[in-house]
Amino acid sequence: MSQWWAELAWLGGDEVAEAVLLTVEGDRLAGVEPGRPAPPSARRLAGLVLPGLVNAHSHAFHRALRGRTHAGAGDFWAWRERMYELAGRLEPGTYQTLATAVYAEMALAGITTVAEFHYLHHPARPSGGRYADPNELGLALVAAAAEAGVRLTLLDTCYLRAGPDGAPLAGVQARFGDGDADAWAERAAALHLGAKGEAVRVGAAIHSVRAVPPKAMTTVAGWAGELGVPLHLHLAEQRREVADCLAATGRTPAGLCADTGVLGPATTAVHATHLTDDDVALLGGHGVTACICPTTERDLADGVGPAARLAQAGAPLALGSDSHAVIDLFEEARAVELDERLVSGRRGLHRPAALLAAATAGGAGSAGWPEAGALAKGRLADFVAVRLDGPRLAGTDPAQVVPAVVFGAGAADVTDVVVGGRPVVAGGWHLGVGDVGRALAVAIGAVSG
Ligand SMILES: [Zn+2]
Repeated sequence: MSQWWAELAWLGGDEVAEAVLLTVEGDRLAGVEPGRPAPPSARRLAGLVLPGLVNAHSHAFHRALRGRTHAGAGDFWAWRERMYELAGRLEPGTYQTLATAVYAEMALAGITTVAEFHYLHHPARPSGGRYADPNELGLALVAAAAEAGVRLTLLDTCYLRAGPDGAPLAGVQARFGDGDADAWAERAAALHLGAKGEAVRVGAAIHSVRAVPPKAMTTVAGWAGELGVPLHLHLAEQRREVADCLAATGRTPAGLCADTGVLGPATTAVHATHLTDDDVALLGGHGVTACICPTTERDLADGVGPAARLAQAGAPLALGSDSHAVIDLFEEARAVELDERLVSGRRGLHRPAALLAAATAGGAGSAGWPEAGALAKGRLADFVAVRLDGPRLAGTDPAQVVPAVVFGAGAADVTDVVVGGRPVVAGGWHLGVGDVGRALAVAIGAVSG
């Protein structure tokens, strides 16, 4: 048993609790008691303690593109060419080193669980061919998350074609594919069995309606449903994706997902940007989580989705740093509200506590860790401390700590991170990886052209 004492802790809702004693047994919270004096043996956490943040959408390798795609003009599709050049160079060793550093950057930012949308399956050798273990790259990500000390949901992603016209995968895209949905399911099943560890779970993903034919979407959804694991997909990120889907099937992407049995409470629609009113009702009515990734969506000129209407319709919200243009879930959380202010001309579409819930419980549900995401007895002992005395948050009104943190905090304000009762970050220092900046520089240098 260990004990932690928090000056302030967010236990849900608009208020924060004072003098909260957190008792940890094994990897769980055995007690969460506000208004308790600090026992001498308890470790003290200054600032505000939150449940561990959950990053519900990540492509770890995109971190190597940060700051390298802003010269000149272009759109999502031009950016994607740069991303493919990088994808073509990654091998298991270099990807594990890179992902370890990226997940360590996430840990420093207070992220205790990440859902990795993994489609980079097969080798980039000029000869083509397959690895002896076709899940070698996925297992490299499992090892990386363990080294960085964060929980991982590895979403094995089905990716079968270049576009809705049925064009085959070619060039770098060829390494994303398994041939057909049955071959994907066979490989994913092996990964499900092979990815061992207390802090790892395997889920499924459909890359997009662009990349997976309707019948195969049903196969992937059936596989996820049978195993009871999360199912994610990119949905309506770009207007062209919606137009192409309508032209090929007569349905919007959300409508096609409804027809193919993809929608349900274990499903997460990533982006959910360009939606009709019917789409919003479909997603909300099925209890699909909408994972909003605002810093990537603005970086790629995707657009601003109807997050407030989705939430009102019944869709839980989650957040993702996706392409890792930045890794800062406070920035993602406030951007959900602030971007919609720009579009609507109104303020206060999302309560600050709801944005914090998207960064914690919403993400935990989406990633298939429903026992994470809250500071409550019986939940996983994943929590983080955010300093309130630094230059960004000094002078915070004690009655408005939640809005101050949501609208003012940054990743650099996270001082301590505990995952399953084990300290991963203390005083802003990653206890396992050490100098994360250096680890990133070395790893990115090794894969950059
Ligand atoms: Zn993505």
